[in-house]
Amino acid sequence: MLLPTDLRNKASKLTALTTAIALAVAPISPAFAQQEKGPPTIRDTEAEQLLRDYTRPILRTAGLEKQNIQVAIINESVFNAFVADGHRIFVNYGALMQSETPNQLIGVLAHETGHLAGGHLAKMRQQMAQAQTQMIIAMLLGAGAMVAGARSGSSNSGLSNVGAAAIAGPQEMIRRNLIAYVRQQEENADRAGVKFLTATGQSARGMYETFKRFSNDSLFAAHGADPYLQSHPMPAERVAALEELARSSPYWDKKDDPALQFRHDMVRAKISAFMERQDTVYRRYPMSNESMPARYAHAITTYLHGDLRSALVQIDGLIQAQPNNPYFYELRGQALLEGGKPAEAIAPLRKAVALSNNAPLIEMLLGQALVGTDNKAYTEEAIAILRGAVARETEAPLGYMQLAMAYGRKGDFAQADLASAQAAYLRGDNKTARELAARAKTRFAVGTPGWVKADDIVAAKPPPKSN
Ligand SMILES: [Zn+2]
Repeated sequence: MLLPTDLRNKASKLTALTTAIALAVAPISPAFAQQEKGPPTIRDTEAEQLLRDYTRPILRTAGLEKQNIQVAIINESVFNAFVADGHRIFVNYGALMQSETPNQLIGVLAHETGHLAGGHLAKMRQQMAQAQTQMIIAMLLGAGAMVAGARSGSSNSGLSNVGAAAIAGPQEMIRRNLIAYVRQQEENADRAGVKFLTATGQSARGMYETFKRFSNDSLFAAHGADPYLQSHPMPAERVAALEELARSSPYWDKKDDPALQFRHDMVRAKISAFMERQDTVYRRYPMSNESMPARYAHAITTYLHGDLRSALVQIDGLIQAQPNNPYFYELRGQALLEGGKPAEAIAPLRKAVALSNNAPLIEMLLGQALVGTDNKAYTEEAIAILRGAVARETEAPLGYMQLAMAYGRKGDFAQADLASAQAAYLRGDNKTARELAARAKTRFAVGTPGWVKADDIVAAKPPPKSN
C-alpha cells in the first residue's frame, strides 16, 4: 500500500486510489492535526520499513535509540530532508528517487541525525531570539542616533543619515552572524554524520556524493530556491572538508549490501509507479526492462490505470519469483480491493499480514477488505484486527474509518461515532471530530472508557489514545 495522505494536487492522476485517498487525507501527527494541516506525507509499510532499517543503527550509535525518532516521507518530488522537531526526520520522496544507492540516502539521514544529536533546532531558535534582541537594540540605538542627528540642527548636512547607517550596519552584522552560525551547524552535522557512519561500519561516500551534487550541479546552484540548499547551504569548502573526512574512513570504498540495494530499488520503483506520470514510469522502466523493480513498477501502474486482470497476472509473476515478499501480496490485495473485489482481497492480505509480521497499515487494508464484503460473519474479526492496528499505528485515519464501519454494521453506534471522530481528528478535521465525539458521548454511559475518549476529543485534549 502506498497512500499519499494529501492528494490535493494529484487527484486527477491517481483517481484509481479514490477510496484510499478519501480515507487517507491526513496530517501525520496530532500535533500537526491541531494546526489543521501538516506536511502531506506518504504512508507505505515497505518504504517506511526500509527507512527504519537505514536509520536504526545510526540512531543507536548517536544515543538516540530510545527517543522513538520517526522518519516520515513527504509527498514532494524535489530533493529534501530536514528535521522540524526533536523527534522526526522528514524525507521527501524525491530524495528517495534521486538517491541511487542506499548509502547516498543513509548519508543524508546520518547528517540529519547529526542535527538531532546536536540539538541544533533548539540552539538555532535561541540564536534567532538573540539576533532579534540584538536587532531591536540596534534599531533603538539607530533611532537614538537619528534623534541626536536631528537635534544637532544640521538636518541638511547629511548627519541625519547617521541614524540609518547605524541601523544597516548592525543588521548586516547580525545577518552574517546568523549565516555563520548555520554554516557551523551544518559542518557539525557533517562531522557527526561521518562519525555515526564510521561507527556503524558504513561509508560516508554517499553523503559526500549527494552533497557534492548539490554544490556542483548548476541546475541546483542556479536556482537558489532549491529547498535542500536553503536548509543546507553547501559552500565548496564545506564539501571539500566533508570529502577529506569521508575519505579518511576505512569504509570509504565499502559497497552497499546487494540485498539492501534491491530493496532500495524496489521502493524507488514503487514510488515512481504510484507518484509519477505513467509515461515517466515507462521511461524509467521501459517494457524491455525485465528486472524485478521494473516488473514491480509495471504491475503497479497497470493496476492504477484500471487494467486489473493484466495487473493480477503481473503480480502473480512477482509472487512466483519471491513467494515470501509480503508487499507483493499486499499489492495483490490492494488491487483487488480497489477493483471492487474485497472478498478476493482477503486471502492475499492475510498472507501479507502474516509475512510482514502484522504490519498495522496492512492490517488496516485487511480490515477494509473484511468490512467491504458486507459479510457479517467477518465483522468481529475485522474489529479485532483493526483495534490491534490502530493501537500500534496511531496516525493513520484509515484504521478508524474501517473500525467505524465495522461497528456500524454491528449496530454499535456509540463506538462507530467514536471511531469516526477519531478518524476525523487524525485527518485534522477537528470540527467534525468534535461533533461526532459529542454525539458519541450521548450514546455511551457517563464515565465509561468510550465516553472518556469522546470527551477528550470534544475538549480537544492531546491525542486520543486507542484502547
Ligand atoms: Zn544540515
